[in-house]
Amino acid sequence: MRVSGSLRPADLPRLLPLLAGTRGTIAVAIDFHRDDEGRFLASLAVDAVLPVECQRCLETVDEVLAPRSELAAVYTDEQARQLPAQLEPVLTSDEEVDLWELVEEELVLALPPFSYHSDPACIDRLAPDGVQQEAPAEAPARDNPFEVLATLKRDRDSGE
Ligand SMILES: [Zn+2]
Repeated sequence: MRVSGSLRPADLPRLLPLLAGTRGTIAVAIDFHRDDEGRFLASLAVDAVLPVECQRCLETVDEVLAPRSELAAVYTDEQARQLPAQLEPVLTSDEEVDLWELVEEELVLALPPFSYHSDPACIDRLAPDGVQQEAPAEAPARDNPFEVLATLKRDRDSGE
């Protein structure tokens, strides 16, 4: 059985605060099947485009995420421990599993801790030497006075 659908970031209250706005698309496809051992499995494929804040220029950048996971329904912690490593246990106390919560979990885990624009406009604006900087979290690049100097240096070179 295959189920597919789409969600909006506003549907996912744990994900939403990590985003730079409520727009974005989340497409979900779940394939339910049983393996040779009789386990109930769900292949979860999420394709999302989510707005987050670029840590370099602080404008919005779209993060493209495509987490994939193989979930296995288990009923006890013991069963969870016995699962092969590639299967992610989903503890199922009753028949009902909140699939959207699983999707949300996957997206929260897939979001990188820092996001940056990859297009040159962002780099030109704030890191004119074009070096991909690993900006430390506690030192925002925008306040670096040396970047002004770097801009001037580059202007000199861009004559022809
Ligand atoms: Zn940027």
